[in-house]
Amino acid sequence: MAETYRIALLPGDGIGPDVTAEAVRVLQAVAAKIPELRFEMEEFSIGAGEFLKNGDPLPESIFTELPRFDATLLGAMGMPGVRWPDGKEMTPQVDLRERLALYQGLRPTYLYHGDDSPLKGRKAGDIDFLLVRESTEGLFSTRLAPRDPKADRATDTMLITRAGAERVIRAAFQIAMKRRKKLTLVDKANVLPSMAFFRQIFDEIAPEFPEVKADHVYVDAMALYLVQRPESFDVMVTENMFGDILSDLAAALVGGMGMSPSADIGDQYAIFQPSHGSAPDIAGMGIANPVATILSAGMMLEWLGEKLRGEAAKRGAVMIENAVRKVFTGTARTRDMGGSLTTGQMGDAVIAALE
Ligand code: ATP
Repeated sequence: MAETYRIALLPGDGIGPDVTAEAVRVLQAVAAKIPELRFEMEEFSIGAGEFLKNGDPLPESIFTELPRFDATLLGAMGMPGVRWPDGKEMTPQVDLRERLALYQGLRPTYLYHGDDSPLKGRKAGDIDFLLVRESTEGLFSTRLAPRDPKADRATDTMLITRAGAERVIRAAFQIAMKRRKKLTLVDKANVLPSMAFFRQIFDEIAPEFPEVKADHVYVDAMALYLVQRPESFDVMVTENMFGDILSDLAAALVGGMGMSPSADIGDQYAIFQPSHGSAPDIAGMGIANPVATILSAGMMLEWLGEKLRGEAAKRGAVMIENAVRKVFTGTARTRDMGGSLTTGQMGDAVIAALE
């Protein structure tokens, strides 16, 4: 039976359009190989570039458009020179997570080739964990609060609500059930009351999933363990800011930001995007690594397949994952990983490996 998925594309700023274009080419190539699979894609402009054109980085109209789509693929948002009057960068990708209640930030980390890790003696598959970042509250909760430029103090609030914690922790347990059945809570419960509350809720929910081995690690210790023994982790769940920081550390273990896909999932909507930002230092040079975005497109197919029971979408997800694995057994790499491939050539390599 034919499966047609409507995909909204938000390429955004900096390297966003380049990496999105490669992911789109890969999706089209997958659809050409799986006759039952079809995509209808439509592009929308949001981000710093949209602000420069029309005065709003996240036009309200996007919220009436997105319900027409099954999923969204996003490139990257923000430009260092385009800021609000208080000096903060525009981050419509973060606004979208909050507005659409995309509370599960899924960041998988997988090592495709031992040579791509700065860690000694690791081979393909040795590093394989998934970080679930709470993406609607935590230390980001007061990020939009005004700051008095003349004041001698500034504060941010670490907000943990029962409802917010319960939904992300339950989702993390459910994900752990589908993987190696191990879930680690990353917190700072020894110092911060908000984190002690987060841990309390985690411990209340853990008995609902007796098959999952649940434990806790403080966030500072987790930074150490991820470098010393990343192979001992399966699924981790943490608050927004800790997740932001640890996911960059995690990316560094497997080749950098260009290898780190992500999915922002809610009960109604889902947005798939690389974990990296708009990388202004290499924007417009055609050298960005598109693999994170291509893998995010693969996560999108997996999610669509699960949610809408689409067998063709699930096959497409496996096809993308296998193609990336095949490419990385060889020496094809973009510049960020010590190679010489352009963004387009890496897209070509993945497409050639689809089978
Ligand atoms: P944000 O805060 O939006 O996550 P950032 O400014 O912290 O963004 P990134 O844009 O993710 O950071 O870039 C961090 C570094 O990683 C930069 O040196 C950038 O060039 C590099 N980088 C990020 N993404 C890629 C990519 N796809 N290919 C190659 N290099 C990348």
